[in-house]
Amino acid sequence: MRVLRVLFSAAILASIVSGGPAWHPLRAQVKATRVAATTFAELRAWDSTVDRMKRDDSLRVRRTIDDPLVPGRMHERLEQFYDGVRVFGGDVARQTDRGLTASIFGTIYEGIDLDVQPVLSIDDVKAVVERQSGVAPGPGRVPELVILPDDDGTYRLTYRVTVFTLEKDAEYFIDAKSGAVVREQRGAERQAAASAIGHGLGVLGDDKKVSVSSQSGTFVASDTLRPPSLRTFDARGDLTKVLNFLNGRTVLVTSDLATSASTTWSDPVAVDAHAQVGWVYDYYFKRHGRRGLDNNNIPITSIIHPVRRNDLSTSSNDVIGLFFVNAFYCCDGVMVFGEGLPPGFVTQPGRQSWNFLAAALDVIGHELTHGVTAFTSGLISRNESGALNEAFSDIMGTSIEFFYQPVGANVMQADYVIGEDAVTPGGIRNMANPGALGDPDHFSRRFTGTADNGGVHTNSTIASHAFYLAIESGTNRTSGLSVQGVGAANREQMEKVFYRGFTQLMPANATFAVARAVTIQAARDLYGAGSAPERAVTQAWTAVGVN
Ligand SMILES: [Zn+2]
Repeated sequence: MRVLRVLFSAAILASIVSGGPAWHPLRAQVKATRVAATTFAELRAWDSTVDRMKRDDSLRVRRTIDDPLVPGRMHERLEQFYDGVRVFGGDVARQTDRGLTASIFGTIYEGIDLDVQPVLSIDDVKAVVERQSGVAPGPGRVPELVILPDDDGTYRLTYRVTVFTLEKDAEYFIDAKSGAVVREQRGAERQAAASAIGHGLGVLGDDKKVSVSSQSGTFVASDTLRPPSLRTFDARGDLTKVLNFLNGRTVLVTSDLATSASTTWSDPVAVDAHAQVGWVYDYYFKRHGRRGLDNNNIPITSIIHPVRRNDLSTSSNDVIGLFFVNAFYCCDGVMVFGEGLPPGFVTQPGRQSWNFLAAALDVIGHELTHGVTAFTSGLISRNESGALNEAFSDIMGTSIEFFYQPVGANVMQADYVIGEDAVTPGGIRNMANPGALGDPDHFSRRFTGTADNGGVHTNSTIASHAFYLAIESGTNRTSGLSVQGVGAANREQMEKVFYRGFTQLMPANATFAVARAVTIQAARDLYGAGSAPERAVTQAWTAVGVN
């Protein structure tokens, strides 16, 4: 007891010394408890903790869904609250089997001691964001009051708000008492009427059908055949309009839809974006029984031509990075397709050409999967949870390619390279051999700096390479460990294992080790303990150094 007390004061002392002036009031220290309960004893203990926290309102049910794949299973996702305010990154995913708990994964923050009355009003917060970013969030962007477990080891009452500027897309955490900018984080993506069926040539020259609507003699890219509204808007290079829409300052209207005078569409970008977003929707429904990004058919809004290729020479590097050589999922079912570069222009290193990003089915699958993640695990876009978020998008994007395209290395063929149909030569990441593009194939080679929100894109290949090995078999180049995969003919098994693990069992602040645990649990749920998929996924994580 005495020893504990001494250690505790030493910890507080350290926080005062490193945390600011000596008169600064003591603040509770962040203590995160990671939960990965799958054994009977662990489950019994955590079950009662979760139930107690539900009773005292420190865990609230965000959603409960019946398992679409295993009869009798249910999934409850709970978010942590303190005094009525959500704790950012605190959540629990609990799976039950006919009422009995089968797994609990999550992160619980302890020792929170905060006054949750904000000093700043919503307008104050928007003013701070405007000073910081140059953009005033509109009425459509409401800052969320959250408790942030900060990197300095203390809890802070903050407002969280995301804005889009010409230079960046950024998420801000503003101290709700002082107005200080506690954290500024770039968004996850930086890589650099009556129904009618139309058709047209895609960017790569293939003929695709598109589900559109006819409206007073013309056709617009609004799909009324699938359950959710799928609409493709043509910004016609008006970047200001795009930014105003992304910041909730304006809405897009019917006259902004991509349009065609006849059923033969002449804009290949509209054809590819509109048709392939529909394919991604269909993949999730056919393979996983999922109804769209939120499983409740939220509308999907696609924006093409955010800039003009001819404006390249007058555009800043940031605009080029976000709206030319990129595609990104914004929020609330909205995605933006980059315009690519004019023929003859290349990016360094690698001297790669960039076609319209709408041409790449795996890129569209990647971006829309960020929407699925946002509505399920909510994996936080930094450090290991951010790498897992990116990995899941690559894993699903690639799975969608294999669902529709023949296997091969040519355009419009399925492989484990990401973006190869738009970014040539070589694509942007390689799940079969991550090192070919300089990314890690093993946990020991992970990037540990702060760039790219903690290397979320580069470190994603540790997990996506495990997915590859668990299907295709092979030997990890770093560890030398071999994996017996389920085989290409059974790829559906591993797609379901990762889908289940990442959407239903995964907590928001997960580590690679948690990803290993949830996918092994998912394999047991779906195929049984000791099954080939369980062995494959276990061997794959071990081979990439995640234990
Ligand atoms: Zn991404």
